[in-house]
Amino acid sequence: FKMSIPKTSAAVYFKEQSESLDVLTFDPEYATPQIQSPTEVLIKNRYAGINFIEAYFRKGIYPVTELPYVLGREASGTVAAIGSEVKDLSVGDKVAYLSGKTFAQYTLFDTATNHRYLKLDPATTDKELLLYGSALVQGLTALTIIEDSYPVKKGDDILVTAAAGGVGLLLDQLISGIGARVIAVASTADKLELAKKAGASVVINSETEDVVARIKEATGGKGVEASFDGVGKATFEISYESLARKGSLVSFGNASGTVPPLSINRLSPKNLKLVRPQVFGYTATKEEWLYYSSKLVGLLKSGKLKLDITEVFPLKNFKLAAEKLEGRKTTGKLALEIPE
Ligand code: NDP
Repeated sequence: FKMSIPKTSAAVYFKEQSESLDVLTFDPEYATPQIQSPTEVLIKNRYAGINFIEAYFRKGIYPVTELPYVLGREASGTVAAIGSEVKDLSVGDKVAYLSGKTFAQYTLFDTATNHRYLKLDPATTDKELLLYGSALVQGLTALTIIEDSYPVKKGDDILVTAAAGGVGLLLDQLISGIGARVIAVASTADKLELAKKAGASVVINSETEDVVARIKEATGGKGVEASFDGVGKATFEISYESLARKGSLVSFGNASGTVPPLSINRLSPKNLKLVRPQVFGYTATKEEWLYYSSKLVGLLKSGKLKLDITEVFPLKNFKLAAEKLEGRKTTGKLALEIPE
């Protein structure tokens, strides 16, 4: 069957990069993207996950290739139209996927160049669409960095910064599930309580405590085998100081700003490893995508991993969501509901 597709539809974009949130625009009458190549599908979105990366594109920390820049990295929804050469998808299929431009009612997805989608069961409920549309970026980030950037082992001591954030709460669960000890850092008592519930053994308040001293004390002077640090600039030195000999510093984000350049000689006193990964680089092949995404779905389905979706905003309120996220006012995962 065919779905009727309107000429214009809603999208959230900015027309210039800026520190200010005021450039974020909700446009209810943006031109609906049209299928131009036979391998493309047009997806009608239902939910989109919010990620910190949106701030980097807006602020100019990461470059953008076109303006207006429609935001969004992940979503779930229904296939609304397909090109003539699309094999695996049909109109009406429910999907969850990674792609740009998902903060919109419709997103074009090219099956020839993007393998990062999950075909969902026709019986998938609205609640499950919310889950799968919100779990991919942070879930795959957490899974890939603990397996590939530094393979966490039973008995390890592991530092997690922003431990009550989206990625943080997933890391707490996954790392403690392996039998390693999570040393969680966050900025408020409430956030630390959440980290503890998610499996952290030691919790440290970054605003009131000497983080490095507490880590040294908690590890009997040894330090941690690895630090998973998504905060960046503000915590890099803390992560560095906290590492044990032969430790790994996995710097996977810049929530507080970009880590300044450093001399590689700084790694030699403790024979450290430094990794700066991105999730797209760990899911670059279809095999990698299938391996990690099926692992994630399995963990979510079995209930072994919980995604704490703390707030769902209407698409038009993305700016408010961004203000809260960038203002350190949120915990867990934030999502957007896309209007029908
Ligand atoms: P979070 O929910 O973790 O939100 C960011 C958190 O960072 C805040 O809640 C806050 O926690 C902490 N933070 C510390 N300093 C600041 C600051 N100056 N401004 C804002 N926040 C600050 O976000 P996400 O889970 O979406 O992302 C976490 C990190 O992971 C980000 O850096 C993101 O870019 C990165 N990431 C990287 C990926 C990759 O492929 N490399 C993929 C996905 C995410 P607190 O108050 O407790 O310090």
